[in-house]
Parts: sequence; C-alpha cells; structure tokens
Amino acid sequence: MKRVFFHTLGCKLNATETATIERQFVDRGFSVVDGLSSFDVFVLNTCSVTERSDRECRQLIRRALRAAPEAFVIVGGCYAQLQPAAIAAIGGVDLVLGSTEKFRIFEYVDSFKKRSTPLTYVSEIGERQDVDRSTSIGLPDRTRSFLKIQDGCDYSCSFCTIPLARGESRSIPLAAILEDARTIVEAGYKEIVLTGVNVGDFGSKMDLALLDVLRLLVQVEGIERIRISSVEPNLLSDWLLDYWFAESKICKHFHLPLQSGSDRMLSRMRRRYRRELYEDRVRTITNHLPLAGIGADVIVGFPGETEELFSETYDFLRDLPVSYLHVFPYSERPDTEAARMAGSVDRGVRARRSERLRLLSVRKRRMFHEQAVGHQLAVLFERQSPDGRLEGLSGEYIRVRAHGPESFVNQICITEIVRAKNETCDGLLQQGALTEVVGIPEERTKDA
Ligand code: SF4
Repeated sequence: MKRVFFHTLGCKLNATETATIERQFVDRGFSVVDGLSSFDVFVLNTCSVTERSDRECRQLIRRALRAAPEAFVIVGGCYAQLQPAAIAAIGGVDLVLGSTEKFRIFEYVDSFKKRSTPLTYVSEIGERQDVDRSTSIGLPDRTRSFLKIQDGCDYSCSFCTIPLARGESRSIPLAAILEDARTIVEAGYKEIVLTGVNVGDFGSKMDLALLDVLRLLVQVEGIERIRISSVEPNLLSDWLLDYWFAESKICKHFHLPLQSGSDRMLSRMRRRYRRELYEDRVRTITNHLPLAGIGADVIVGFPGETEELFSETYDFLRDLPVSYLHVFPYSERPDTEAARMAGSVDRGVRARRSERLRLLSVRKRRMFHEQAVGHQLAVLFERQSPDGRLEGLSGEYIRVRAHGPESFVNQICITEIVRAKNETCDGLLQQGALTEVVGIPEERTKDA
C-alpha cells in the first residue's frame, strides 16, 4: 500500500481542501502517514498570503526530499498557482498544480514514479466558473467540520493576492451544500463551520445570499451548531445580523476583518468600508449580545502607516468591544498595488507594532473571559486532557476547560464559567445540562 504524507500551509479553507484531496487518496487505497515515517508521495497544499509562507513552502519541499528522496512530490494551491515556474525550479518536484487542478491529481498522473522533469498544470485564473466542493471530514478534530460554500473574491484590496490565486467570487450550489452538510452530520460532527474566501459574498452571482445558506442548514437534522468563519464588515447587513441574533443554532461568534483603524489606511488598502461602519457593526452586535465573541484581523506596517496613523488603529481597537485580534505585519506581495506604493515601513517597526497589538489582544481576550464569569455557555467538548478535564469551545469562541467524563466529548453541554484566564476559562458542567444528551442521571452531574 502506497503511503502519502500531506502538509497544508495557510487558512482553514486550504486545510478543508486538503482533507478532500486526502479522501481521494484513501479511496484509492493509499495510507495516510505523518511526516515522521517514510512516504511514497508528498502532497503540499500551499499558501501565498505572505513572503514567509512562500519561503516555508520551499523549505518544506527540501525537507520532504531529504526525508524521502524517492518520494513523488506534488505541490498545489495558491503559491503554485501564482509562481509555478519558481516551484518547478526547485529540484525534486514532480507535479505542480494550480488552485483547482490540485483536486484532480488522478486525472494528471496514474503512476507516482519519480520524474526527471516536473509536470505543471496551472490554468489561467479567469477561466474558471466552477467551484470544487470541500469538507474537512477526516481531519483530527472530530467535533466540528469545515464546509466550503464559496471560493475566490471580486474585491481588489491593494495588498492581497488571493483574487490572483483563486479567481473570481464563485459559490457552491445550495443543493450541493445541503448534501455536504448531511454527509458531515452522518460522520458524527455536531458543528459546521462555513468557510470560503469571501463568505459574506456567497450567492452574489446566483441571486442568493449567505442568509439562504443559514436558513437551509438550520433545518438539517443533526446539525447542532453553525459557525461562520468570517464576514467582510460591509457585507454584515442588518437583516443578516437580525437572523444571526435570533437563530439559536448559529454561534454568536463574529470574525470581522478590519485591517486598519485609520480611514487613511483603509482607503490605501482599497477596503470597502471606513472605521465608522466597522464600529457601527460591532456596537450593533454588542448592544444585542453583550457576550458575543468578536474577532478582528489587523495589518500593521502598511506602506504610509506613520506612528500617528498606527496610534489611530491602536486607540480604535483599545476602545472597541472586540474580544481578540489576529495581527499580521504587512508583507509585500508580487503584482499587488501596495507593493508599488511609497512609504514602506521598516520591518523592525512592523514587528514592534505587531507586538503591541498582540499584547492588546491578550488583554482584550482576558477582559472578554472575565465578562463571561457567572454565565452559562453551551460548550462543544472536543477532547479530554490527561488531567481528566474536558476541553472545548463555546458558541462565543471561548475555550473552556471543565471536569467531566470522556463520554461528554463531542457533546454540547451547558457549562457555567467560574474562572477567567488569558487563553481559556474554567467551567462547571451544569446539572441536567447533559441528561438530554447522554442520559446521565441527574444526581451524577453534580459530581461532574
Ligand atoms: S476581501 Fe480583500 S483581503 Fe479578502 S480575499 Fe478579497 S481581496 Fe483579499
């Protein structure tokens, strides 16, 4: 039996797509191995969001070839789509595949014998209208599965290569989404995470909207929770929010890319909103749901970002009720407008500003956790750690640890938050919270 080793760089969407490709290999009798043991085929699903991800890709290929010099090396995904020649030039690569070709490995090769020169299949970005379906069934997390509903993007943020790597915004038909969701339920998952590149833009060319997906999925028997990976702030309409607030199955977790708290920077980034709209969306959420989990992506050190403009971002986020930040130092990307802009910020300054925002994020998350103390949250427990404590995520995206038996893993349980920490909260499983799930007699829950 041939052994295949997969490695994924980048976002959850990429990880979800790797899981789909992995199933194609398993269906053909391959055994999936981790990198520590030897392998016959190496599949690398690449990312190209930062210079660092490109570098990591090249290093991983060389490391894989040192570990298994005879392995058939396949490199696909965003970096391969954008720089196929650079990847083909790395000695030892056998097959280079673009963002959609990576789903069709078995159409391009039927033997995995090492080649003297690599095969390259990368189609022009604009050619594609179809979208490859993906779920993350099979990945280690057995409690929640990602479900791809959309791909590509029609926006032109000046720093971003994703539209160049993944093409125009395209959506998966509702019938296919329904079928994939049912498959996820049959595989025993309780939570579905909707993913894509610009999820909020779902259906824009089909006279549909993200709300149509939500309305469809809340009716699917067995789906206990739906999480939305992220939504562009300008796509967070009042009617989408009203439904999101009212529908108990939809996690009260909002991941809203901000990128900057300075209107001057947002304009240079070609973002489709200004800070006023962002603040309005965040306050609309917290006015309805004081304990909603709100995450913000931020880029620091964008060309032209002075100390004053950085302080605008810092102060804006300090005063906004968001719960955590994902901070990215700006990274020049080939063929982007931003890479040609004047006002480049020193890399040391980018690192220092990132550090300041990461410290702010730690404080924000801690404050959010303290706000949760005394509240009863629905936690989907993912595993039991060696100390016997269960660990899982609440709908609000709070990581919770609580004493309880292993049989509660992959169960959603009402848990009272009793202590806040920086990264997690301690919880106490509530009486009766589990009975309807696993039929444990009332009195047992008290000890849990
Ligand atoms: S919305 Fe902007 S940052 Fe996001 S994928 Fe599209 S172009 Fe890139």
